[in-house]
Formats: sequence, structure tokens, C-alpha cells
Amino acid sequence: MKILVLNSGSSSIKFQLFSMKERKVLASGLIEQIGEPMGKIKLNSAQLKEPVTQKVVIPNHEHGIEIISSFLIDNKIIKGLDALDGIGHRVVHGGAFKESQLIDDGIMQEINKYIPLAPLHNPANISGIKAAETEAPHVPQVAVFDTAFHQTMPPHAYTYALPYDLCEKLHIRRYGFHGTSHGYIAEEAAKVLKKPLSKCNLITLHLGGGASAAAIKNGKCVDTSMGLSPLEGLVMGTRSGDLDPAIVFYLERVEKLKPHEIDMLLNKQSGLKGICGTNDLREVEAKIREGCERAKLAFDMFCYRIKKYIGSYYAVLGRVDAIVFTGGIGENSASVRAQVCEGLSHFGITLDTKRNAANATHIQSSKSEVEVLVIPTNEEFEIAKLTQHLINEKHLKR
Ligand code: ADP
Repeated sequence: MKILVLNSGSSSIKFQLFSMKERKVLASGLIEQIGEPMGKIKLNSAQLKEPVTQKVVIPNHEHGIEIISSFLIDNKIIKGLDALDGIGHRVVHGGAFKESQLIDDGIMQEINKYIPLAPLHNPANISGIKAAETEAPHVPQVAVFDTAFHQTMPPHAYTYALPYDLCEKLHIRRYGFHGTSHGYIAEEAAKVLKKPLSKCNLITLHLGGGASAAAIKNGKCVDTSMGLSPLEGLVMGTRSGDLDPAIVFYLERVEKLKPHEIDMLLNKQSGLKGICGTNDLREVEAKIREGCERAKLAFDMFCYRIKKYIGSYYAVLGRVDAIVFTGGIGENSASVRAQVCEGLSHFGITLDTKRNAANATHIQSSKSEVEVLVIPTNEEFEIAKLTQHLINEKHLKR
């Protein structure tokens, strides 16, 4: 079975083509600067020695999909997009959807309905879906939502303490994001633990440019740190994460900032970058080695916030089988993992320094009651897997 995974941004399309049986990436690439005076493409396949890069004008997403299609045909990877078994689309906001959905007019209307909740992402996802439908009208298309995995949260975890009617009217609630990643690593962790996922209690930590934590009880998400939007929760590269909402009114009143300026400040100029000038954790670590105190503060804040979430999710779950680190930081930064887990021996969590430094799968010490795992995420493969699952379930295999 060949499944194409598309992640469409406002001016970009990322793709990976999978052969599902061998779990192999046949081709991948990135189309950038769509709609700008000059666009950039980078395309790769299993047969090529190095990726093809080019600068071409890419007026819209449809043109971007045509470029991908021509590349796959020219390199004899598939006869055309219509020969695919399915196309899986990353859709950021899926509102109340608990699962991936086969795309039809009704689903498109729902994705449209959630635009006010994800004004930057959902319109771009819709453009990608429409372009793929034009190019491959007979191929089943599936929407895989970043929010879906978290929709098993109970009402007391997802409801904000605001006037209830207003929450209902405006669909204000915790949705959670990075769901494909949390779902994927939860399944992988269950394999490592050699237990059915339905018996696993996990705290999963996706630490990348964006960062989020999830509490997983018996394989289902019961709480997560991101909320109505991806702004809430952990300290991130450029996002503040949790803060006192009164700060927003204070900025408006005293600094005379407009709502869109505060939005920008909290999303793009805060987090690690706001504290020490860089959003890249490797650079933060390099600055610490040079003696930069602000970088040390940013690092300490980043780790401290994660530790607080571990503590609260421990209380939520009661018993924890494993803490799972993933994402660019979670998979690679031994110093973050060490500092996050420091002082948690009373929770039964201690690390093995050598295994942690080696980014091993198991990084807990032999004394540790709780397993601590490092599992690389693979959101694209998870989207392909969910797409395949739905196609099989609906007997749409071609
Ligand atoms: P995105 O959320 O954009 O997909 P990633 O999951 O790739 O991002 O994570 C990016 C973050 O991972 C950056 O802060 C980067 O510095 C950090 N990172 C990547 N490799 C390492 C490493 N070897 N050591 C420490 N941090 C790393």
C-alpha cells in the first residue's frame, strides 16, 4: 500500500510517500515560499544520491502538488497521484473529532468551521486538501487531526473556568495539540514496555520547537498541557506557555499594545527566545557553556515547567509506568532530561547517567521504579498509519 502524507502550511507543503508494508519512505520533500515571487523546492527519493533542489515560481498549493506529482512520475516511483492508495493530510484543528476522518463535503465544512480556532493553520490545510483532490480525485483522502488523540479528556480536564454558556457558544475548551506525536510515542512505548497500551499509564513529553506534555491513563489521554491553542503549557522556543492572563491586560493598559501585538509577543517573541535571545536549545546550551546567565535562566525555566507538569500528571495518574521523551529536544538533549528528572527519586524516577548521555531508549537507572524512555517521534508515519487504518476499515482498498 502506498500512502502519501501531506503537511500543508500557508506557504509550504511537506510530504512523505510511504510503502506501508516495508514501512519505507519512497520519497519526501519540501515545497516552500508558495505564493511568493520565487519559490524553493527540495525533493528526494530512496533512489537518488542527493536531493533535487530548485528555485521556481509556485503560485499556489495546486501547483505545489503538481510539482510533487511530476517528481514521483519522472522518477518512476508511481504512475501518478491517482495510483496512490490514499493521501493523509495533517489538519491542525479538528475540534471535537476523536479520530481521523475520511474527507467528504461534510468533513470539509467541519474543518472550515474550526478556522476561527486555528486561523493560520486550517485554511492552509484546506488548500492542501483541495489541491490534492484536484490532482487525485479518485484517491481516498483522510484528515488526521493534531487535536484528535486528546479528545478522550474528561470535562473537568478540558473545561476552562469561564462562564459556561460562553464556552459552549464559542467552543472554548482545552483541545491539545501534537496529538499524532503523543499517540505514536504512546504506542511505541507500550511495545518497549511489552504491555498492551490499554494497560499503560504514561507521561509523554514532546519537546521540540513547540512543546507539550500529556497524561495517558490506560492508553487514553486524560490531560494535556496545550489548550485552546498551542500557546498554553510548557515554555517553548518562542511561546510563553502558561502565564497569568492579567499580564495581557497589563500590557494593553500600560504598554498600550494592541491585541495582535500581544498575540505576536506571546507566540513569537517569548519562551526561550524572550529570555535569552535564541529559540534553539542547542544555542541556549552553547551560551550556558560561555557563561551566559540569561541562557541558564531560560534553560532552568524550561526544565522547571516540565518538572511541574510531571508532578501534576503524577497526581492525576496515580501510577506511572513510564515517562517518555520525544521531539528534537526530548530525543537529543541529555542535559534537559537530566535536569527535568533531577530530584524525582521520591517518585521512583532516577536516571542512568551513561544511558542518558547516549540517548538510549531506556535511560532510567536499575533502581528506578518508573521507566524513563527516549523514543523518536514519527508524525508522518503515524498519519500514514491512521490513513491506512481508515482505508482498510471502510473497505476502500483499491
Ligand atoms: P519542530 O518542533 O520545529 O519540529 P524539532 O522537534 O526538530 O522542532 O526540535 C527542535 C529543537 O530541538 C530545537 O530547539 C533544537 O535546538 C533542539 N535540538 C535538536 N538537536 C539537538 C541536540 N542534539 N541537542 C539539543 N537540542 C537539540
